[in-house]
Amino acid sequence: MDCIFCKIIAGEIPAVTVLDEEKVFAFMDINPASRGHMLVVPKNHAENIFEISEADLSAVMGAVKRCAGAVKEALGAEGITVLQLNGTASDQLVPHLHVHIMPRWENDGMSVSQWDMGKGDIEELKNMARKIIQHIPVES
Ligand code: 5GP
Ligand code: ZN
Repeated sequence: MDCIFCKIIAGEIPAVTVLDEEKVFAFMDINPASRGHMLVVPKNHAENIFEISEADLSAVMGAVKRCAGAVKEALGAEGITVLQLNGTASDQLVPHLHVHIMPRWENDGMSVSQWDMGKGDIEELKNMARKIIQHIPVES
């Protein structure tokens, strides 16, 4: 498969590795959005959150927690943005699921978490919730 992150995991493309475990791999982002920006990925290829198994996602998120704590300690981060994109409509560039860990500092000027907020229509929110609930699978 022609997947850049699979190649990184296999050691075919160099990367600055942070964590190498049975199910999860983490490495420094090559174009860091902030100091210490890293990516956590499952070793089993899955394109996005719709494809990955709950077990693999669980392993990824466990590693995200540990890496977030580590980079906070190591670099004295004051906050951490955790970001994960699914699909080109969501600006996902690399089609192998990855969780961004972006260390943050007060007034660092990063705009990743700033969007226009406007009050939602309560009836519309209720209608959407009713539809969504019908599509949530029972816990496996
Ligand atoms: P996204 O798909 O969530 O938009 O972001 C993909 C991320 O992967 C970007 O932050 C980009 O800098 C990073 N990236 C893309 N190619 C490579 C690579 O070859 N090595 C590393 N370390 N990071 C990469
Ligand atoms: Zn892959």
